[in-house]
Amino acid sequence: MDLMYASTRDANVKVTASQAVLKGLSDDGGLFVPERIPLLDVSFTELAGMSYQETAYAVMKQFLTDFTEEELKDCIAKAYDSKFDTEEIAPLVQADGIYFLELFHGATIAFKDMALSILPHLLTVSAKKNRVTNEIVILTATSGDTGKAALAGFAEVNGIKIIVFYPKNGVSPIQEKQMVTQKGANTFVAGIHGNFDEAQTGVKKMFADQAFGKELASHGYQFSSANSINIGRLVPQIVYYVYAYAKLIAKGDIKEGEKINVAVPTGNFGNILAAYYAKNMGLPIAKLICASNENKVLYDFFETGTYDKNREFMLTSSPSMDILISSNLERLIYRIAGDSAQKNAEFMRKLNEEGVYSISEEMKAELKDFYGNYASEQETAQTIRQLYDKTGYVLDTHTAVAASVCRKYQAETGDQTKVITASTASPFKFTRSVMNAIDPSYDTKSDFELADELSRIANVKVPKAIEEIRTASVLHRTECEPDEMPETVKRFLGI
Ligand SMILES: *Cc1c(COP(=O)(O)O)cnc(C)c1O
Repeated sequence: MDLMYASTRDANVKVTASQAVLKGLSDDGGLFVPERIPLLDVSFTELAGMSYQETAYAVMKQFLTDFTEEELKDCIAKAYDSKFDTEEIAPLVQADGIYFLELFHGATIAFKDMALSILPHLLTVSAKKNRVTNEIVILTATSGDTGKAALAGFAEVNGIKIIVFYPKNGVSPIQEKQMVTQKGANTFVAGIHGNFDEAQTGVKKMFADQAFGKELASHGYQFSSANSINIGRLVPQIVYYVYAYAKLIAKGDIKEGEKINVAVPTGNFGNILAAYYAKNMGLPIAKLICASNENKVLYDFFETGTYDKNREFMLTSSPSMDILISSNLERLIYRIAGDSAQKNAEFMRKLNEEGVYSISEEMKAELKDFYGNYASEQETAQTIRQLYDKTGYVLDTHTAVAASVCRKYQAETGDQTKVITASTASPFKFTRSVMNAIDPSYDTKSDFELADELSRIANVKVPKAIEEIRTASVLHRTECEPDEMPETVKRFLGI
C-alpha cells in the first residue's frame, strides 16, 4: 500500500508521492503532507555503518513509496556525487561543545543544496511516472539561497524551465552574483522591488490562479515548485538528521537510543520541520530548538500561541531567515490541529486576511518539544567572534543565530543533552558580515579580498562556488514590481 499525501486545506485530496512532488502545492493552496509519518525500519546499529547515500535510501523509501528501488537509488546517486566537496556529504564538526552539522558542502555552499540536488531527479521521475507531456516550469521565490541552489540543480535539465524571483535589495552581494551569473538556456532570474514575503506571495498567487494555469497549459507548460513547500524538498532534509545521529553512535559519542537536541536556524520552517519528521520516524530527538533572527515571529508564536505577521520586516545579516510568513509551519499547524484540514484552512484564511491567528491551549500543548528564541544582530556577531577566538572555527551568520539561541536555551534550562546545530551556510557566502563580526576594520575590503582573508584566518580553502563567480559575467538583468510577476513569467516563456 502506497503512503498517500493529503492537502493541509482539503480533506478530500489524496495523491501519491510522485504526484505531490510534481504539483508542489495543492490546488486549494494547501501543502501536501504524508497521511502518517512512517517509522525507520532499520536499526541505528545498521545506520551507523551506512554512507550518506545508503542512509538517504533508507529514509526516503519510507516516504516516496511509489518510486521503485532502482528509480530512487538512481536519483540519490545522481544527486549526492562529486558536486559535493566531501564524500561524507554532511560532515559533523565539533567546536566548543556543540556539534555543527555542515550542510554546505554542495554546489552553492548553502544547505538548500541538500534537497535541491535531488529534487530535479525526483521531479523528472515523477513526470514520467504520471505521463506528463507538458514542459514543467519551476517557479520559485527565494530569500537568497534557494534561488541559486534551484538554478544550479535544474540548469540544462531536459523538459524543465526554471524561473527565480528574489528581493532585489534583500540578498547578499554574493548571493545575487551567484544567481545573475547562472548559465543555462532554461534558467530565468528576476529581482523584484519588494521583500521576500512579497516574492513568495506573488508565486503562491500564480500557483492558485486557475485561469493563468489554463493559459500556460494551452502553450504546453505547467507549473511546479522548488520551494521548501514541495514534499520533494522536505523528505531529503530528513536524511541528514538520521545520518548525523548515526554518526554520533559510530564515533562512540552517544549510546544507541540516547536523546539529542537539535538547533536549527529557521526561516520558512522547512529544515526544522524535517527534524520534527525525523523525530516522528523514531529518531531520539528531545528538543527542537527553533532559532530566529530579529524577524522573531516564530519565537513570539511559541511563546504566546499567536502567529502575527503584522510587524516591521527587518533586513538582517542572516537574509535567508528574513521571513515573516513561515510557509512550512502550516504542516505543523495541521498536525497539531489533529490533522484537520478544516481547522487549518481557517487559520490560514485568517493569516491571509488579517495577518494573524491564535491556536487553542490544547494545540499549544502539542508544541512542548519545541523551544523558540531569537538572536539580535549584536548577539549573532558576538557568537561568531567568540567561537572564532576560542576555537578558530568560523560560523556563517545563520548558523551563528542558531548557536546563539542554543546557548540561551542551555543557560535557561541547564539541559546538558548533546546538541546538533544545523550549519546552513558556508561563512564564504556571507563573508562581509562574518568578517565584520570578527573585526570591524575589515569593512573597507572588497568581497573577494574578504574571501581570501577569511580563507587565511580560518585555514579553509576558498570554495569553488566563490572562485567561479569572481570573474563570471552577469547574464540576468530583469527587474520588476511584485504585481508584474505574472507578466514577467509570460515574457520569459514567450507567451
Ligand atoms: C533557507 C535557509 C535557512 C532557513 O531554512 P528554512 O528551511 O527556510 O527554515 C537558514 N539558513 C540558510 C543559510 C538558508 O539558506
